[in-house]
Amino acid sequence: MAKKTAQTKKNLKAADVLGKDDLIVIGGAGGFIAGALAKYFHEQGFRRIRAIDKKPLPQWYQITPGVESLCMDLSEKQCAIEACKGAKEVYNLAADMGGMGFIERFRVECLRSVLINTHMIEAAYCAGAERYFFSSSACAYNVELQKDPHVRALKESDAYPAMAERGYGWEKLISEMFCQEYWAERGMKTAIARFHNVYGPFGTWDGGREKAPAAICRKVIEAKDSGRHEITIWGSGRQTRSFMYIDDCVNGIDIIMHCKDLIAVPINLGSNELIAVNDLVSYAEQIGGIKLKRRYDMDAPQGVAGRNSDNTFIKQVLRWEPDTPFKKGLKKTYDWIERQYYDRKAGKRTVS
Ligand code: NAD
Repeated sequence: MAKKTAQTKKNLKAADVLGKDDLIVIGGAGGFIAGALAKYFHEQGFRRIRAIDKKPLPQWYQITPGVESLCMDLSEKQCAIEACKGAKEVYNLAADMGGMGFIERFRVECLRSVLINTHMIEAAYCAGAERYFFSSSACAYNVELQKDPHVRALKESDAYPAMAERGYGWEKLISEMFCQEYWAERGMKTAIARFHNVYGPFGTWDGGREKAPAAICRKVIEAKDSGRHEITIWGSGRQTRSFMYIDDCVNGIDIIMHCKDLIAVPINLGSNELIAVNDLVSYAEQIGGIKLKRRYDMDAPQGVAGRNSDNTFIKQVLRWEPDTPFKKGLKKTYDWIERQYYDRKAGKRTVS
């Protein structure tokens, strides 16, 4: 893993370019990443943050006191207009999404997120916003390049010729194009980050939309609690992925959004530490202090065989890359899920 070299270059952030009373609008803030982003900006001292999600407030993963939190459906044009009114910057992370179990099964729902992005970027433009951020995904990459667990890491140019993940990935590609054309044709500054598997506390950990790190932690915790010392793994366990810790993601969003060399340029935002699912299970077992009998469900959704983030471009432009070691981030995630698990058992309110 490359060493942090940020000290050689100062990357601009919101705190460098915005006034503390400039309005920051964040879509999808009842969910994992945008909820963390709202908290991050609030902690930086921004006084006007408008957080929006279609979920009713009691179902939000995090509500940050002092942040204006609104329940609105951003796939409705009028709601998008209301949401963006007066905004200096718009961060759109709202999408109908989940882990492989969700995106392979609900392609129509994933495709319909194009309505959110269509209305939000137009509303941001009409409101005179200075910058617009779009959360794209590694699922936008050509699936033909991801058939081997020992993958060559994906670089930004690998999205074309396009053969994205059906449904979810194609929606991301078309919404990226909106960002590129709003800059090219209308001069609104846009930023496009292709996230690679984000995990951490306050992420979905149960219910069908959770991703591999959270699902595996939960299964280990359940196995320990129930005394049935076995675990079911989707696929052969040889699939590989890289996973980015939430703090790196939020930091990266801020830097990418404010980099003048990245306007309308898609960029990977992910770790390049490649992990096989079997190793992920071993790490979670180590944290839990248990060894489980493994069963492999070859009929379960598995996604591509391997996927990693090529960080050459982000290191070149920003002299920075996500660098939280996976074992460290997983420990924090495991501990948080374990508290959630026992809170739920005790009848307390929990995330997902
Ligand atoms: P999440 O599901 O936790 O959050 C998304 C939020 O958007 C949800 O709370 C949902 O209710 C909200 N939403 C959906 N439709 C909406 C609508 N019409 N109006 C308002 N809100 C709506 O997901 P996340 O993990 O926080 O992901 C955030 C963004 O990052 C998404 O665009 C996702 O595609 C992208 N992304 C995430 C990952 C990851 O690993 N988590 C990877 C790649 C890309």
